[in-house]
Amino acid sequence: VVSGSFEELSAKRAARARWLASKYPAAREALTFYADIASFQQGVDPHQPLAALAALIELVLEKGPPLLREATRDLDEDTCRVAIEDYARERDVTSPRSFFARVLLQPQMHAKAAGHAEPGAQLGRCPRCGHPPQVGCLRALEYGTALTFICSLCLAEFPFLRGRCPACGEAEENKIAYYSAAELEHVQIQACESCRRYFHNVSLAKDPEAIPDVDEVAALPLDVWAHEKGFRKLHANLLGI
Ligand SMILES: [Zn+2]
Ligand SMILES: [Zn+2]
Repeated sequence: VVSGSFEELSAKRAARARWLASKYPAAREALTFYADIASFQQGVDPHQPLAALAALIELVLEKGPPLLREATRDLDEDTCRVAIEDYARERDVTSPRSFFARVLLQPQMHAKAAGHAEPGAQLGRCPRCGHPPQVGCLRALEYGTALTFICSLCLAEFPFLRGRCPACGEAEENKIAYYSAAELEHVQIQACESCRRYFHNVSLAKDPEAIPDVDEVAALPLDVWAHEKGFRKLHANLLGI
């Protein structure tokens, strides 16, 4: 998933998001905005992310949800530089302001991550940038299924043990539960009964066209279900879901 330039990857992500938006009305709004963001990221210079801030603010004011529109009010290059620093160090990865930091930081982190691996990464963390995974990706093997994670920040893909919770390490079979919905067959939730965290697995075996970080946005109804059951997502996506 990390292969190719961020520009190419973003073009593919945008196209996939628009296609899914036409197919899954329940998540249409979220997917359309995600497509706009992915298209926007194609033009972000990884060496000068702040140069794209004005255009990002314009996009959010035009098409973004109220919470993000409001966050643009006290956002300028200085406050955004701090937000980027706070995101990179995981001091703030959830506020509306952190959205802007993440959108601008991703192209840079993707470029840095290519060909770079930090030895001794923590369990369940990206071996390239150290941030937590966004979403799981399932592929069929000759025997069984392989799980990889897509990093929430640099979008690098890295292997992980199937049936284990990346948040707390739980691996007891009866503590890890899976849920899916008939309308969205290729996405499932993996939830941990021990720490009450969950994430989505996107199956490339069931839909080879899927792009995990995009397809998990289509699974909005599964998120609603999980939150109602008292599970908390491992890492919120760009849309804060
Ligand atoms: Zn990463
Ligand atoms: Zn857990």
